[in-house]
Formats: sequence, structure tokens, C-alpha cells
Amino acid sequence: MSSQSAATLRKQSAASSPTERILSWGRYPKSAHQRVHKPAWNDQVPDILRLAGPGFLLPYGLGRSYGDSCLNGGRELVDCRRLNRILGFDEATGMLRCESGVSLSDIIDVFLPKGWFLPVTPGTRFVTVGGAIANDVHGKNHHCAGTFGAHVHQIGLHRSNDGLVVCNSEHNSNMLRATIGGLGLTGVIAWADIQLKRVAGPWIDAESKPFESLNTFLDLSRESNESFEYTVAWLDCFAGKNLRGIFFRGNHAAHPGENRRPKRGPKVPFALPGWMLNRYSMKAFNTAYYEYHAGKKGTRCVPYDSFFYPLDSIRQWNLLYGRQGFLQYQCVIPETNVAAFEELLDRIARSGMGSFLGVLKQFGSAPPAGMLSFPRPGLTLALDFTMRGERTLQLMQSLDDIVRQSGGALYPAKDARMDPALFEASFPRWRSFVPYIDPKMSSSFWRRVTGAQS
Ligand SMILES: Cc1cc2nc3c(=O)[nH]c(=O)nc-3n(C[C@H](O)[C@H](O)[C@H](O)COP(=O)(O)OP(=O)(O)OC[C@H]3O[C@@H](n4cnc5c(N)ncnc54)[C@H](O)[C@@H]3O)c2cc1C
Repeated sequence: MSSQSAATLRKQSAASSPTERILSWGRYPKSAHQRVHKPAWNDQVPDILRLAGPGFLLPYGLGRSYGDSCLNGGRELVDCRRLNRILGFDEATGMLRCESGVSLSDIIDVFLPKGWFLPVTPGTRFVTVGGAIANDVHGKNHHCAGTFGAHVHQIGLHRSNDGLVVCNSEHNSNMLRATIGGLGLTGVIAWADIQLKRVAGPWIDAESKPFESLNTFLDLSRESNESFEYTVAWLDCFAGKNLRGIFFRGNHAAHPGENRRPKRGPKVPFALPGWMLNRYSMKAFNTAYYEYHAGKKGTRCVPYDSFFYPLDSIRQWNLLYGRQGFLQYQCVIPETNVAAFEELLDRIARSGMGSFLGVLKQFGSAPPAGMLSFPRPGLTLALDFTMRGERTLQLMQSLDDIVRQSGGALYPAKDARMDPALFEASFPRWRSFVPYIDPKMSSSFWRRVTGAQS
């Protein structure tokens, strides 16, 4: 085939859909988009950028952000999922080059059997490399490995004015720092070089320990930071000030063991009626979960997927929250302000609106990899709330007050409602990020928290 006809074919296959319904993981807010571009090749992206109006575009990955940071209501998205090719791998160093629509799941499937794993992974493997960079995601090893962005050595970035810009620590280093955690606003990431880490195999030596106060959690966390690569805790969010939870910690097992693919679990077929997840069913779940894990003390060798991605075993679990969807509240509060943290938990417990997914982690002190990276030293708490209208929004606003007064911050990847004042308090230097925004890019989130029109 001549190169000219190949190029023509590629241009034709840059499909776009004017009607498809695109939601984020929380299924709230429900915003309509004018058009979803679906480039299959990176050389189709420049035309999409050229033809768009100012502020009309936003890249989209696997939509695992909970709120509106991956949405561009009333405008257009560039769905990057078909940009999913592995472009190169250095077997000696573990440096991977891949397109931005490759998912973390794809990387594990290909490279774990060869003895390589992700340097950092969030609690789901169904996120794209582009999404992981744009939210500078963190995982259970934040205390020793920092964020995903810290392991990104180089990216190719489509910019509407400058074409494909290569960014690394020597060239366009500020653009690299702006794009890591840059919420998709600096351009469309074409490809990235990521340093994978060597592991013996797919098994984790895991331990769980019950705890019954915030101080015990902190002691466990500090003690584990030295000798465990991964630490995280589940929290009973109905327990209030009488805090209790399960502390999980683990290391990659030293033996290779047998390779196995994660099993495809059951699928939630449709949005369940909202009343099924009520204060009583969630309280019962929290009690049962605590008692089950509290009885399972000690070290066990478990497959990596059950350790890192327990939720991925139920496909479409987000439908459990019903048709109105749900919101996740993820904040970080400085450790010096334990009282604020206790107040937060108490308010959630008293509201009776807590969820079955309370996650608690002590962040490490690694310097931020991106200009707008969320992780910083402190305690981070993530909780889901079924969307029950004004009642839910009011509870979250009252939590905002505590976060703001304690000098904390909210995580944009999980947010659908924070106001501009809290965004300002969370990211006081956001204005120095603005010059790096591509003029063709915007998002529902960005317009909401900064008042930007385009
Ligand atoms: C069950 C679950 C557990 C999670 N656990 C964690 C966790 O432990 N830690 C954590 O940090 N996060 C966690 N998350 C959030 C998730 O990791 C992030 O929201 C991630 O960014 C989603 O990636 P995505 O591919 O789905 O991107 P999307 O959600 O579609 O988009 C996210 C952002 O990336 C941008 N983007 C996407 N592709 C590109 C591209 N090619 N170029 C430029 N920008 C792009 C979008 O514009 C948007 O701003 C979790 C989410 C779920 C559902």
C-alpha cells in the first residue's frame, strides 16, 4: 500500500461519535457531550486539535475518575483508548515506551510474566497510562515510591500550537511537570516512557492487622513504612471516634511462583435500586468485613490482583450505588492535625451516610512530581457516598470546612463538587500552571473550580 493511501485510510478511521453517552466512574454529574473523537492513530490527533474551537477538547481515558475531571460537558472529548500500542521495551533496564491509551492491565498482562511490574498502581488496573499521568495517581507504595509521575521519564505531547512536543528532564521539563497531574489540560499525551520495576513473580506476601484507634493506625503505619513496600488500611466509617479498621501491608514475594491471569468476576448487570445501600446494610457490611479480616491475622501469600485490585473482581461495581450515582470524597489532612481527622470521621459516622469503602493511607514525603499533584505528607481518607441529592452535598460541604481549616486538600480525580475556594486552598499555586494549558483544552472540572470560560 502506498504511504499516501495508508495516510488517507488512517484519516478516515479517526471515528467520532456525536451521540455516545460518556460518564465518569461515579456516574455523577451526567453531562452530555457534543462529540467524542476516537483517533486510532497518533497522527490523527493533530487534525482533531486543529479543527476544534478554543477550550473545546479534553482527552478521555477509561473514565475511572469519579467526578467531572474527565468530562467536558457541552463540548468534545478525545477518547484515547484506541491509542493502545506498546512501542518498545528495554529488557535490560525495564524502560517501557507505550501509547497513552494502553491500560495498566495491558502492561501487567504483557510484562509481569517477564518479571516486571508497575512502579506505582492505583486501586484499579483499568486506567490508561494517559489517565495515570494526568492525575499523577498514587498507590499503596506512596511512602517509598512517590507517585506514578515520578517514574515517567519522557512523554510525547500533542499541542495544538506546537505539534508533537517531547518533554523530559532536559527538554521542556516544565511542560512535563505541568502535564503530570495536569488533568489533561496541557494537550493529548501521545506516548510515554515509564520505568517498570523488577519483581520475582505475581505473588505478594501480605499481612493484615486489626486496629482500634487512630494512634494504633499511625503506629502501625510508621512501623511498616521501613519494611513494607505497600501499606493501606480499610476503615469502618460507622465507628466514628471509636475508630477501627484493618491495616494491610505487603511485599512482592521473593519466589517466582506460578503465573496466573486474574479471574473475570461477576458483573453488576444494571443500576440497583438506591434503597439497597442504606445505613443498615452498609453498617452490617462494615461489621462483617471487620470481623472477617480481624480473624485472619498473620502473613499469607496472595495473588497480586487480590492484593492491589480487590474491587476489580466485581465488574461495573459502580452500578451498586443506583441510578443517581455516587460521589467519592478523598482528602488529605496534615498529620499534625489528628483532631481534624477525628472530627471528620465523627461527622461522617453521625450522618449515617458512610460507605463500605473507607480507605486510609499515610502519604510519604516525596516531593510532588507534577505542578498540581495531589499527594503531600499527611493522612489521606477516601470514602464513597451514594448520591442522595442535597443531603449528600450538604454533608460533603461540612467536611470541606474541616479540610480547609486543617490546611488539607481534596483530590480532583475524585471530585464532582468542590467550590473554587477549596480548590484555591488545596492548590494555592494553580495560577502558575495556567500558562501551560493548551488553548484548545478545558474540562467541566476546570471551569467549575477556576471560573474559566474556555
Ligand atoms: C476502583 C478505583 C480505585 C482507584 N484507586 C485510586 C488510587 O488508589 N489512587 C489514585 O490516585 N487514583 C485512584 N483511582 C482514580 C484513577 O486512578 C484516576 O482517576 C485515573 O486518572 C483514571 O484514569 P483513566 O484512564 O480512567 O482516565 P480518565 O478518568 O478518563 O481521565 C482522567 C484524566 O486523564 C486525562 N487523560 C486521559 N487520557 C489522556 C491523554 N492521553 N493525554 C492527556 N490527558 C489524558 C483526562 O483528561 C482526565 O483529566 C481509582 C479509581 C477507581 C475506579
